[in-house]
Amino acid sequence: MTKSTDKPVPQRPLPTIDDDNRPFWDGARAGELRMQKCCGCGHIRYPISELCPQCLSGEFEWQRLSGRGKVFSTIVFHQIYHAAFAGEAPYNVSLIQLDEGPRMFSNVVGVPPSEVKVGDVVEAVFEPLTEDVTLPRFRMMQAG
Ligand SMILES: [Zn+2]
Repeated sequence: MTKSTDKPVPQRPLPTIDDDNRPFWDGARAGELRMQKCCGCGHIRYPISELCPQCLSGEFEWQRLSGRGKVFSTIVFHQIYHAAFAGEAPYNVSLIQLDEGPRMFSNVVGVPPSEVKVGDVVEAVFEPLTEDVTLPRFRMMQAG
């Protein structure tokens, strides 16, 4: 991937998909949250890494997660840091504590950004951006 330089139309920055992270993005396209599970100790890790941070094993398999978690921290962005997001501010950036252990940065959607609170129970939703990229986001878990 080359660095984006002076493009006439601001494009939303997209993740780079490569052989290492492809299963994660394939999963998102299929509506599943998939992460690496260590074959040595069972630790589920994110972000994607070559070795298990717990036991340093390089053996892993991709595991489908429940997609459920809790808001660990959340902040509201009012400022536009990238022109492509101009229509989206204010928005929240939340660190989601997944039930299976890992934490991931994402957005909680479907409610005003300032209504998201630490401890809120959320579940993953999948938002297709392009043919290749579907972004996992989170929404408040529906009661019942
Ligand atoms: Zn391990």
